[in-house]
Amino acid sequence: MRLARVQALLRSYQQALAGILHRTVLHAGLAGMRALANALPVLPEASAVRHILRAYVPRLTRLEPAEVKAFAALFPASYRDELRHLAPRLAPHLPPAEPAAPKVEPKLALVEAAAAALRQKGVLTKPEYDRLDAQARQQAFTVAGQTTRAAVQKIHDLLAEQISQGPEQRGFVKKWTAALGESPLGQAHMETVFRDTVQKHYAEGMDKMAAHPLVQELFPFVANEAIFDARLSELCRVISRSGLDGSNVYHRDDPVWKKYQNPRHIRCRCGRRYLTIEQAAALGVKAAQRWLKTGRPPAVPPFVPEPKLPPGSERARQALGTV
Ligand SMILES: [Zn+2]
Repeated sequence: MRLARVQALLRSYQQALAGILHRTVLHAGLAGMRALANALPVLPEASAVRHILRAYVPRLTRLEPAEVKAFAALFPASYRDELRHLAPRLAPHLPPAEPAAPKVEPKLALVEAAAAALRQKGVLTKPEYDRLDAQARQQAFTVAGQTTRAAVQKIHDLLAEQISQGPEQRGFVKKWTAALGESPLGQAHMETVFRDTVQKHYAEGMDKMAAHPLVQELFPFVANEAIFDARLSELCRVISRSGLDGSNVYHRDDPVWKKYQNPRHIRCRCGRRYLTIEQAAALGVKAAQRWLKTGRPPAVPPFVPEPKLPPGSERARQALGTV
């Protein structure tokens, strides 16, 4: 009996857990690739340069000075020593040395992308924000109950710092209180600001990474990961079954997904998980199964019709971002 309850509880978190695993693998992969790229010497390029030089150096004596200059400009400054040695005639025409590239600390790509997404937002007071249309609001950040832009800016900066360093709600509330005093709307408000901002910007950071052409090609589908417990909203429940073939999976370019992607209301706990063709096929998406079988992408991207949403959904969506 108890085991069945435990199983049911685990099942309600299944999608979210799968998402965490999948994201961890993706992000670790991206961070790893970058660390590797930073660490590797440019061997193939260096040997190609040597090869070209050996082939062309004997002919350099026959080149006009202007041609020598043009030839020298083809090489990056990092080959200065190599060229001085192999082709002294080129050396005076080399481009100036570049400053040493700053050492890049490997960081989790998602965390960086999420913090950058928040940092790029314009900071506005709530009345200013309310005057914007939906599209302009995407690029703005505000907090209710704060009367000056300077106060909103302070909260904005605290949140960006929190996302970079690993979000921690209690630390954020403490720092907010120390800088500005408790929100006039109370402790629960401060927590909601924290949760919704972190959720929203992780989702945006995820999108930025997923927009990379390589990632786009690998992950053409996206799943809404809801947590199926008593707190799941009716809106998120509907979105979780309005995807392709009644699943929670959408084509990533589907206008319906773009419109209703998570987070879709205040305190929405849904995540998103980008899926490969194989993963979408395994979840029962017929278009993905055909794609997998034929090796050809669908001629027309498989989009779903506009779902019928529960009453009040539009208002709930509008309220997001104005906490
Ligand atoms: Zn949700």
